[in-house]
Amino acid sequence: MNRIIGKINPDQRHVTIWGAGFSGLVLGYFLKDQGYAVTIYEKSNRIGGKIQTKRTGAGLAERGAHALYLNQDGLELIKELKLEPIPAAKKLRHLLMINGKPKRPLQFSLFSKIATNVYKKPPLVSDGLTVADFFRPLLGSANVHNYLSPILGGIYATPADQLHFKSIFPQVGQKAQFDSYWSFLKMLMKLKKSQPKIELSGSVTFEGGMQTLINRLGEVLKHEIKLNYKEEFRIKGNTIVCTDAVNAAQILKELRPELSRELARIQYRAVSSSTVFLKRELKGLNKAFGVLIPLENGYHSIGIINNKAIFPTNNQEIQSYTFISPKQLTDEEVLQDLMLLSPDIKGEEIEHIETVYWDKALPIYDLQLFLSIKKLHQLAYKEDNLAIFGNYVAGISLRDMITAAKTFSRHPLDYT
Ligand SMILES: Cc1cc2nc3c(=O)[nH]c(=O)nc-3n(C[C@H](O)[C@H](O)[C@H](O)COP(=O)(O)OP(=O)(O)OC[C@H]3O[C@@H](n4cnc5c(N)ncnc54)[C@H](O)[C@@H]3O)c2cc1C
Repeated sequence: MNRIIGKINPDQRHVTIWGAGFSGLVLGYFLKDQGYAVTIYEKSNRIGGKIQTKRTGAGLAERGAHALYLNQDGLELIKELKLEPIPAAKKLRHLLMINGKPKRPLQFSLFSKIATNVYKKPPLVSDGLTVADFFRPLLGSANVHNYLSPILGGIYATPADQLHFKSIFPQVGQKAQFDSYWSFLKMLMKLKKSQPKIELSGSVTFEGGMQTLINRLGEVLKHEIKLNYKEEFRIKGNTIVCTDAVNAAQILKELRPELSRELARIQYRAVSSSTVFLKRELKGLNKAFGVLIPLENGYHSIGIINNKAIFPTNNQEIQSYTFISPKQLTDEEVLQDLMLLSPDIKGEEIEHIETVYWDKALPIYDLQLFLSIKKLHQLAYKEDNLAIFGNYVAGISLRDMITAAKTFSRHPLDYT
């Protein structure tokens, strides 16, 4: 269910939001737009949560989200905010590390496997089914590990054998049994085609990075946001918790112990994001979006993003590459990955390394999350004016969060 958990009472025209990360800001924005008086309490001294652009001497480094992948609601939002999007360069290659070299993922061996198995019947879609279980008969175990896991890892930082099928494919996951993989693929294509055409699609950022989006939301909500807010949590009137699940469990512990216990079951994955500024381009990643790296491949990273190729910036001399890893990366380990990718790189060509480590970076979209969200919906349904939102609730990406927040602001009672 791609819906915010719980309800608010639309007859009470004030809403209190706890947390000014992207979920709190975007929900605050849409509720304000619907005529609610909004107050947003943020415990830290800044807004944006896991979106933060750092200005280093060498250039901009995104500490969290690099881009907004547009849908119609996302595009409408940036228009309303009067932001000028910078679209990702077109025709960039998406590469995968194959036998130690960045290559195009659509290899002959993969195609022939799909062609052989496409008329096979996939496993029954049950609550316990993982993405790996579903695709294994189509792709084979090696291709699930070498292709599918790194591709999904680029979004969820979690391998396919942990990802919950119904959560990753919410629209098609409703169907219990597909006649064949071909009918599953046809359904996916039909769904894609049914999406409204929008004038600008793909990933975008902004001059000044993703911080510009946050700052603009902050400007619109400047009278509503209270930073460094350390008062005890209370449920007085319409209240929406927009923190990560760990903090949500913490703040609801006394007042709503059942909700808190369920929230505490949700697991998170750590992520390091290290941006390396270089005086020259890495040849292997020329004109590429980046490269995804299967686990146990000798690399510490699971993906490398080629920032300059995606969003060319003012600084023409400096290239920047972000190394994403599911563990805490040291500069030494980033350099080891860099040397593996490009053994001829010289120390003096490295301008700067900017690293951030999020110990609870992303919720793991596994069976536990699916079951917990189901339970949280059941528990919160009994509440009149308490709701819960964040990237673990209705989709991990910013665009899913925009759609969920917009829909909720217009139909806060619609629980169909
Ligand atoms: C490295 C990385 C790269 C990513 N890349 C992308 C990308 O390119 N595109 C994309 O769409 N998504 C991306 N994401 C995901 C996206 O950034 C997140 O899903 C999103 O920013 C999470 O927002 P949130 O509001 O749910 O949580 P958070 O950002 O965690 O915000 C929660 C806020 O609540 C506050 N808070 C906590 N406890 C309390 C309390 N008791 N009282 C008041 N406030 C409290 C926190 O201080 C914080 O400000 C990425 C994530 C990471 C980590």
